[in-house]
Amino acid sequence: MDKQSISGYTLPELTELLKPLPAFRAKQVFKWISRGVTTFNAMTDLSQELRQDLGERFLVQETAISETVTDSDGTVKLQISLQDGAKIEAVILVDGEGRKTACISTQVGCPMACAFCKTGSLGFLRNLTSAEITEQLYHCRTVSGEIANIVIMGMGEPLLNLDNLRRAMSIWSDPAGLGMSRRRITISTSGIIAGIRDLADQGPEVRLAVSLTTADPALRELLMPVTRANPLPELKEALRYFQSKQNKRITLEAVLLGGVNTRKEDALAIAGFAKGLDVIINLIPWNPVAGMGIKGKDFIEPTDREIDRMVSLLEDRGLTVTRRYRKGRGVSGACGQLGSLEGFKVD
Ligand code: SF4
Repeated sequence: MDKQSISGYTLPELTELLKPLPAFRAKQVFKWISRGVTTFNAMTDLSQELRQDLGERFLVQETAISETVTDSDGTVKLQISLQDGAKIEAVILVDGEGRKTACISTQVGCPMACAFCKTGSLGFLRNLTSAEITEQLYHCRTVSGEIANIVIMGMGEPLLNLDNLRRAMSIWSDPAGLGMSRRRITISTSGIIAGIRDLADQGPEVRLAVSLTTADPALRELLMPVTRANPLPELKEALRYFQSKQNKRITLEAVLLGGVNTRKEDALAIAGFAKGLDVIINLIPWNPVAGMGIKGKDFIEPTDREIDRMVSLLEDRGLTVTRRYRKGRGVSGACGQLGSLEGFKVD
């Protein structure tokens, strides 16, 4: 059987696991793991004997980068191999000031089947373990150095794997390790009501983004089947509840599909949904993936005119709107394109 890595243990869990070693030893090990070392041998403040003993029992990391692709705009996509042979992807995005954001996956594939998403078209294999989630950040840091922000927006629906994600976030933000501020972490969900309420009640206090895409119920059901079990009125109620508990501005994302959800009534429906919530609207022009569409019609990119119109219609209704750059397209690392690297497949 494969040895287990200890990267997915929170500090209290690691302290328990390594007993009867004293707690300060566990802290030393935790610190080394957070720095991204891959062997116990590299933990130079431990005795040779202890390093050997730990190496016989555990792995430091159980996943490895199997491919790296860099786009001309600086976006880096990592393909990461898991112990069972499955592959996932993480992406590093760079903004105009050189700040880096790591986009992290939480599942192998995704069960949500959003019509515009490459990952959704691949099917679902399993949830990632806390180690597999945690290590993605270490891999991103190894490739690109300091990471300023984390978005849980890669493959999978994060709120369907919330326990493992919680542990990963607790590991990343522990001051004994990287001490990553939770305010720099954003979870993006397709709209899982139970998960939003759970996050509101149990924390941690991170930023929340919801992939709304359209507030027209029939169209949303077609584009995002999650709508059937998580209807829009209840979703809005859950967001209101989240804000009553955490008092934080939520991002509503809308992937814009040319001629599909860019009509005047689409903007008005989004504005109606946003009413009474403290939100910022993030418009994301759809990134082309061949052969994706609905009702036998392939999706197309929205025109600049369509995007501009959506922006002004929403702004006219007093909403704050941001428009996402088309980033990472050269490496298929843009939103909705993960899973297009050779080798990723859910059988
Ligand atoms: S958009 Fe997100 S939730 Fe929807 S299928 Fe893709 S990865 Fe899953």
